[in-house]
Amino acid sequence: MPQRYVYDFDEPSTGGRELLGGKGIGLAEMTQIGVPVPAGFTITTDACRAYMSNGKTLPDGVEEEIEWHLGALEKKTGKRFGDMNDPLLVSVRSGAAVSMPGMMDSILNLGLNDEAVVGLARATGNERFANDSYRRLIQMYGEVVDGIDGHRFEQALTDLKKSRGALQDVDLSAHDLAGLIDTYRAVFLEETDRDFPQDPREQLTRAVGAVFDSWDSPRAQVYRRTYDIPDELGTAVNVVQMVFGNKGDESGTGVAFTRDPSTGEPGLYGEFLANAQGEDVVSGIRTPEPLANMQQKLPAAFQQLVDTMRRLEENYRDMQDIEFTVEDNELYLLQTRSAKRTAAAAVKAAVDMVEEGLISHEDAVARIDPAQLDQLLHPMIDPTAEWEVATKGLNASPGAACGAIVLDADTAEQRGKAGESVILVSWETTPDDIHGLIKAAGILTAHGGMTSHAAVVARGMGKPCVAGCEGLSIDIDARTITVGDRTLSEGDLLTIDGGTGAVIVGEVPLVAPEVNDDLETILRWGDEHRTLKVRANADTPEDAAKAREFGAQGIGLCRTEHMFMAEERLPVVREMILADSEEGRRDALDKLLPMQQGDFEAIFEAMAGLPVTIRLLDPPLHEFLPPPEQAPDERTRRRIRQLQESNPMLGTRGCRLGLQWPEIYEMQVRAIIRAARAVDERTDEAPLVEIMHPLVGLAEELRRLRELTVRVAEEEAPEVEYLCGTMIELPRACIRADEIAEQADFFSFGTNDLTQTTLGFSRDDAEGKFLTHYLEDGVLDKNPFETLDVDGVGDLMRIAVDRGRSTKPELKLGICGEHGGDPKSVTFCHELGLDYVSCSPYRVPLARLAAAQAALAASGAVAYAAAGG
Ligand code: PEP
Ligand code: MG
Repeated sequence: MPQRYVYDFDEPSTGGRELLGGKGIGLAEMTQIGVPVPAGFTITTDACRAYMSNGKTLPDGVEEEIEWHLGALEKKTGKRFGDMNDPLLVSVRSGAAVSMPGMMDSILNLGLNDEAVVGLARATGNERFANDSYRRLIQMYGEVVDGIDGHRFEQALTDLKKSRGALQDVDLSAHDLAGLIDTYRAVFLEETDRDFPQDPREQLTRAVGAVFDSWDSPRAQVYRRTYDIPDELGTAVNVVQMVFGNKGDESGTGVAFTRDPSTGEPGLYGEFLANAQGEDVVSGIRTPEPLANMQQKLPAAFQQLVDTMRRLEENYRDMQDIEFTVEDNELYLLQTRSAKRTAAAAVKAAVDMVEEGLISHEDAVARIDPAQLDQLLHPMIDPTAEWEVATKGLNASPGAACGAIVLDADTAEQRGKAGESVILVSWETTPDDIHGLIKAAGILTAHGGMTSHAAVVARGMGKPCVAGCEGLSIDIDARTITVGDRTLSEGDLLTIDGGTGAVIVGEVPLVAPEVNDDLETILRWGDEHRTLKVRANADTPEDAAKAREFGAQGIGLCRTEHMFMAEERLPVVREMILADSEEGRRDALDKLLPMQQGDFEAIFEAMAGLPVTIRLLDPPLHEFLPPPEQAPDERTRRRIRQLQESNPMLGTRGCRLGLQWPEIYEMQVRAIIRAARAVDERTDEAPLVEIMHPLVGLAEELRRLRELTVRVAEEEAPEVEYLCGTMIELPRACIRADEIAEQADFFSFGTNDLTQTTLGFSRDDAEGKFLTHYLEDGVLDKNPFETLDVDGVGDLMRIAVDRGRSTKPELKLGICGEHGGDPKSVTFCHELGLDYVSCSPYRVPLARLAAAQAALAASGAVAYAAAGG
């Protein structure tokens, strides 16, 4: 059978979302469950892929299939496409498998021409409506198919309104709009050297091609790169019978969520415009009204909307985001999709849906995207700080941000890339601003509602956004803004709170938020399935306390060098490093010992009997020293120079320090054992001590260091129990893990160094240099310092796990590199059979969730898990 490229909405959907795209599958499913949807058909993503690889021509047979389905549509609607009396009109709408809001194009009102517009006016008895529909077609078609700059049309519309003294589009008469059609046609002719096409079939074919082309528009490409959407997916095209929201006061159009997408609160939430077509809402040309107004204006259609949305939630068992049109009091759904929501809304909706009996605990756990949790753990304005609200807008996306004002997306991108925190301030944003939105810390717009482009995109990215801020005005020529009664220049500092809508002049201190009850509930449900333990990397008692609050089950990495950096300690540390003799070093170490012991006691106490892995000194010693030119005398200068190395990351660091100057590690082991004994005596909870040696590559290194550790511990307090283990962060350590395991009670993968040494990518420099280029050019898909390079580094880890456990089946295994807090890497660690992951305290909730999802996915308890992709 020849390949099929077109499917009717009422046919069983064989290829699913991948073939029909999100919009297509939604329309097909709604049709099939009896939700009111206009009739139509979908041209598949297969056709798009074939079109792309065919030098942008539609594959054989598609035209004929479209013809056939158009015929079926004519039968269903009782109207003919191209008819001059009562024409069938269609929209052509893009829709990829993965939602890319506003990134691709759609065209409405196809099928109108100079004659059909007269027929439509007669058939509907509404000339104004017919003319309005036709002028919209010329504009959209001109922009999308022929690439005419939209400003040309907008300018003509603005000029016309001015000359008529009209405030809104709806104030223009049928006669005005007839004139506008003439103007638009003249623009079209001037820009393309052709008349606006009068043949509806030609309109349709070129519109389908143009929507396929929009898959490759620069903004769509940027969006795909940001969200890891493969280029090969392609978009489907939906050809949908037009229903008209611009037919009069009994008609309208709107967007709605089944729950509040910012907070997750139940109840319909959205916006509505009477007597308008869909793009009026999205483009922000007219300011929409809250849905509550629709209840008064169109009560019957509103009730239909309420019933339909309840049905959609029951069918999809998830929060939906819909587009609808009311034509003469009849409701039609044009789209439904799983709603983009903030992390707070995702968590609340999931907990509520469990209570409502819509989903199970496991579904709720599987449904939250761990990467999105970062949002919930975003900074908020310090409640104890004093500040004044300069003006307020809509609380479009939660979290607070503070940064320099920038007034366009290019500047936001440039300055954001350079590491500056910037707030993008704009009348409104469009999909073309996506590159600036990505790099901004927060977004503030004067126009647009909660469903405006800026609001939707910011929520998806977890960025603070205040939208529709009426007290904001922008003078783009002067590069200044006015908020309330204050005028500020580009570059001045501004703080926004996307949770409350507050806009504040200057910088306000921010604080990290707490885990809320709903999140705690979901994490607890997840913990019931999780097998991987989650610990935190923490160097201070404050970090340790935070980590426990977030549910950490221990400390997987306490980096002792951070304790050496404190202002009052650094001179002693320098004295130790610069000493000429062992005796000199020991004198300085004697001074450091009580300080370290105090640090460890505080951390043990904060962790109250949970395991604490303390890593002995790791970095190259010159990191503690000033540059030689700042040395106080010649002797010091010489010693600093002696210690300098051209490749310090591969130099005298890690366990090499402990072997070369054993007194350093002796002091640290002594401090640990003394602290453990003191805390054990003082409190009910004996610390679970794990002493860890860094950068081991040879079994002999660890054999000697274990001997040192055991000797000192015996000298200090033979009764204190502890484990002695090693980081695995060199390829050789992975390969010889069987020998190393003979000397180790545990392994902890240091995947920062392991990535550096496996790939030969400097962890200090690569990301600012060639790695950026690799990622942009697609040489690599992912930054290996963020997400484990499973094929390379991951394979070495697998070797280490197998060989280590071949020596000691009970060998304790964990990871403490940054990857321990990356959802995809956590999934891999689960598959590898590690005992725990360890990550920064703020990522502990995320790691708990990712680990629970990995366990659920592996057990087949849920169909998908967000972390596993
Ligand atoms: C590592 O290398 O992964 C690690 C955790 O240690 P550090 O980052 O301190 O080198
Ligand atoms: Mg390391």
